[in-house]
Parts: sequence; structure tokens; C-alpha cells
Amino acid sequence: KAKSSGRNGYAFFDQILHEQVRTRVEIEQALRGALDRGELSVHYQPIVDLANDELTGFEALMRWDHPQLGRVSPLEFIPIAEDTGLIVEYGAWLLEEAANQLVRWRAARADDLPPLHISVNISVRQLRDSALVGVVRRALRRTGLPASTLWLEITESGVMEDPETALATLRALRALGVRLAIDDFGTGYASLNYLRSIPARIVKIDRSFVAGVGEGSHNEAIVKAVVAMAHALGQRVVAEGVETVVQRDWLRAYGCDLVQGWLYGAPRSADAQVAWMDRTATALQLDHLS
Ligand code: C2E
Ligand code: MG
Ligand code: MG
Ligand code: MG
Repeated sequence: KAKSSGRNGYAFFDQILHEQVRTRVEIEQALRGALDRGELSVHYQPIVDLANDELTGFEALMRWDHPQLGRVSPLEFIPIAEDTGLIVEYGAWLLEEAANQLVRWRAARADDLPPLHISVNISVRQLRDSALVGVVRRALRRTGLPASTLWLEITESGVMEDPETALATLRALRALGVRLAIDDFGTGYASLNYLRSIPARIVKIDRSFVAGVGEGSHNEAIVKAVVAMAHALGQRVVAEGVETVVQRDWLRAYGCDLVQGWLYGAPRSADAQVAWMDRTATALQLDHLS
């Protein structure tokens, strides 16, 4: 009796395992044609200056809508796109798409307002690809976006995988005039020595550290330390995942420069973002829409 239930247990486990594998393989196969079938799109999330509550730019985030699988989270499909190498093509597509959108928004904005920037995520795999510098240069040339308004977000782990190659690529990107931002700061394993050698102008504090600030969380000490260190290195600090007024007020009081989060707007398609901003305090401040 015990034996047969054991077998059933294994069979059950086997089935779960099989379903997981099938899902991963299914997702991988579906992802291969996603760009050609027009299933990929870009969403934009506002980044806001805490000093005056004004919009400074957007982070571009990839979205994938599959007819059967529905909307698949980037947390699920980006790692698969990295493993398969698809991220190289899809990332290049997103970069140009986002740059084009920003050029349109910049053209529609009043001259006396500060120029908007666009922030794009660069994966480990892209950072390892020697063609990346050329891809970025070509996107800037084809869209006419000024290099200084393009931020490239990289992670600590992205650099640590192969520090020599990554740092050489980052220096070449800096030479193009783009700005580098360290994304999800604090969640990786880079030593201070490496962090110092990354020519980044911006540090983005991961939202796991932003949670609970203003409510006495231990995270407050960490955020204060990161802000102090970044400022000493001449870097600006962006807090991610800001959802409440309490968090926002605390971050402002402790010298954080920029914020991004549901409090100021979720990631939305370009049209939806404009419509949403028209209805809310976070005005896009466009003269006319193109
Ligand atoms: P990330 O770069 O750290 O992006 C921020 C994530 O936080 C986004 O998740 C965004 O939707 C979410 N978020 C923003 N504000 C809030 C908030 O107030 N509360 C909460 N709980 N979440 C918030 P998303 O869009 O699901 O993307 C997840 C991750 O996938 C990104 O993390 C990034 O690492 C990756 N990713 C997304 N698009 C791309 C892309 O085009 N290329 C690459 N290489 N990675 C991408
Ligand atoms: Mg990011
Ligand atoms: Mg981030
Ligand atoms: Mg994050």
C-alpha cells in the first residue's frame, strides 16, 4: 500500500515537472516569433524629480502579448530571451522604438522645459555582445535622439559576469555620450571596488529597499547610506517602486533625487500614458501631441 502511494507520489511529481518543462519550452517557442508577429510593445513609466514634482523622463519596459499565453511577465520571458539570445534582437528593436517615441515627445514639448530622457534596460547578454555599442550608435543616428538623453540601465550582476569585457563596453558607451544607470542597486553582488569603476551617473535603488521607508523600517538606514555614497561619487539617485506619499515624503527629506512608481504612474503604452497624464497632476506638459 505504502509502495503504491509512493509511486503515485512520484507520478504526480513527474507530471508537475513535465508541465513546468512544457511551459518553459512552449514559452520559448512562442517567444521566437513574437517580434515578427507584432506581439511585442513598449510601455513607458514616468520618472519624476522630487525637488519640484516635475516629469524628467521615462523608463521603457518591454511587453509581450501572446494570443494563447496572454500577457507574459518580463520577469518570465526576459530570462528566456537572454538564454536563447533573442534579447539581442528584441533589445535593439525596443531601443529604437523607445528612442523614436522620445523624439516625438520632445518635439511636442515646450522649449523652456527641461529635455526629457528615456531609460532602457540592457541585459547581461547584450552587455556581453560586442555589437552593442554599434547598435546604440545606430539607434541614436537613425532617430536623432541626443545621446545625453539616453540612459542605459545595467545591473551589478550584468557587470560581474565578465567584468573586463563589460567595463570596456561601458566605457565605449560612455564615450558615445549616453548615461549609465545601475539598476536594482543593492540586490547584486558587486564589490564596492567594481561599483566604483562603473562609469555610471545614476543609481537606481531597488524597490525592495524602498518598501517600508517612512515607517521605521531598517531599509531607511540602507537608503540613507546609498544616497550618501552615490552623492559622494557625484551620482544621482532614483528610488524605484514608490507607491505611497509616506515613502515619497521620506525620500525627499533624505535627499533622494528622482522617483519612479505607481504613485506617479504605472508603465503604460505611449498613448495611454499621455491620456493618463492629461488627467492627473503629473502633466506631460506638451504643447501639442504628434
Ligand atoms: P526593472 O528594470 O527594475 O523595472 C522596474 C519594474 O518595477 C517594472 O516591472 C515595473 O513595472 C515595476 N514597477 C514600477 N513601479 C512600481 C511600483 O510602484 N510598485 C511595484 N510593485 N512595481 C513597480 P516589469 O515591467 O514587470 O519589468 C520587470 C523587469 O524585467 C525589469 O525590472 C527589467 O529588469 C526587466 N525588463 C523589462 N523590460 C525589459 C527590456 O526591454 N529589456 C531588458 N533587458 N529587461 C527588461
Ligand atoms: Mg530598469
Ligand atoms: Mg529597476
Ligand atoms: Mg527593480
